[in-house]
Amino acid sequence: MLTFDGLIRHWTREKPGQVALEQDGKALTFAALDERSRRIVAILKAQGLAKGDRVAWLGKNARLYFELFYSAARMGVVMVPIGWRLAAPEIAYILGDTGAKLLFIDEGFAGLAAGACGDMENPPKVIDTPTAKSDIAAAPADDFEGAGPDDAVLQLYTSGTTGNPKGAVLTNANLFALRQPAEEAAQPWSSWDEDEAILVCMPCAHIGGTGLGIMAMAAGVRAIVQAEFTPDGVLDGFEQGITRLFIVPAALQMVVQHPRAKDTDMSAVKYVMYGAAPIPLDLLREAVQTIPEAGFLQCYGMTETTGTIAMLPPEDHTLEGNQRMKSAGKAVPGAELRVVDEDGEELPRGEVGELICRSPSNMQGYWNLPDATRGALKDGWMHTGDAAYMDDDGYVYIQDRIKDMIISGGENVYPAQVESAIYGHPAVGEVAVIGVPDDIWGEAVKACVVPRPGSEVDPDDIIAFTRERLAGFKVPKTVDVIEAMPRNASGKILRRELRAPYWKDHD
Ligand code: ATP
Ligand code: MG
Repeated sequence: MLTFDGLIRHWTREKPGQVALEQDGKALTFAALDERSRRIVAILKAQGLAKGDRVAWLGKNARLYFELFYSAARMGVVMVPIGWRLAAPEIAYILGDTGAKLLFIDEGFAGLAAGACGDMENPPKVIDTPTAKSDIAAAPADDFEGAGPDDAVLQLYTSGTTGNPKGAVLTNANLFALRQPAEEAAQPWSSWDEDEAILVCMPCAHIGGTGLGIMAMAAGVRAIVQAEFTPDGVLDGFEQGITRLFIVPAALQMVVQHPRAKDTDMSAVKYVMYGAAPIPLDLLREAVQTIPEAGFLQCYGMTETTGTIAMLPPEDHTLEGNQRMKSAGKAVPGAELRVVDEDGEELPRGEVGELICRSPSNMQGYWNLPDATRGALKDGWMHTGDAAYMDDDGYVYIQDRIKDMIISGGENVYPAQVESAIYGHPAVGEVAVIGVPDDIWGEAVKACVVPRPGSEVDPDDIIAFTRERLAGFKVPKTVDVIEAMPRNASGKILRRELRAPYWKDHD
């Protein structure tokens, strides 16, 4: 069973000179990481931290964040990365919820940290990046007892797409369960070449960011950290020879539609992993055509399952009339998936119900939320809250979140499907579909559209376009043209924000 401590010791023995972490060209080998993390352990101990305590990071992605996380994890101190786009009261809520004793902050975050800590009863001690760096340089390299597989090491908050974020508590075993390097790789993408490099460009406060660091650690390869996602940064990464990345659909769209994309050498990229939100089929086709040498892997999962539990393999990404391309893939080895009805009974293949997952990567529970934990984890099965069906070959087709389903005239409408159809219209840049109150239908389908740069959107045209592609009850009754799409840091559309003005007198 893998642990951070075990892995760092292992890679330091096996390949001490291999780069583990790199940012802006500054690299740290496994041997240096081992040494520095022993110093960080000494600092954490000197601050009074012991196994089971929490330490937080507020900031962008940084090499220092990963060093702190790995070091804390080695001794069983739980890291809580906090999203830097959150407002001070939201940060204060998370800090208070976790009871973190120490808060490390990235450069430029002193004001936000002070704002968050100002009103707290027991604020954590704040250590800024220059202080942390000089403390590390001065500290002795400590020896310590490494944390075991069942010790919690990471507390990640859910993206807060459907409500308040919840703290998912994850152990060493959870993090590495589905990332065990096998003697004989089950699939080509679970074997690694020595010189691979993983790009970490999604926010570290989410599993799509921190999870990539964990993946690099499990494989013993280089993680290239970028402070935040920018399409230019990803294209630069391609030119610098990154071999794998994970990216959300909204970010993938920015990369493939970037003017530089067609002139960028992408030949080093082996796998493009994408997911965390539904992807419009036309966007996926465009991406596959833009990065033709790469294998595409759709990842489906959630914070509570330590990320990916289903994957759509590269061979299912063929362009011609391939229905499989609409699927989020099949369970990864080690995870089990089922589709169940409201009573938890498994449904026949093809019928839509709630997707549930049993996996050694399932979280221990939500921090401080026993009722929510009982509601989500039943007999070891994580209830995803996502509506899906499974085909005879075990491929799952995510319809959408159950909470976002629109019931119009008694028919169920999944916004993601309508969005995918509307996205095919050439004037559409981004689209979100919501239900709005309707006296006759209960709810009526509404599309909110951001035009593509330089295009104009005619609502009647969008309605006519959708009518040719979808059943009548799924066609929007109205279309709003909006300037920007509300999204959270995970790149997910905040449909609840779009819905709010219409429902304020109803809900
Ligand atoms: P919250 O739970 O706080 O409302 P969240 O569910 O968005 O936020 P995450 O754990 O980051 O927080 O996201 C998990 C969800 O993301 C899944 O339940 C699913 O709805 C969506 N998702 C993830 N991967 C995919 C995918 N490949 N296709 C469609 N949806 C996906
Ligand atoms: Mg969720």
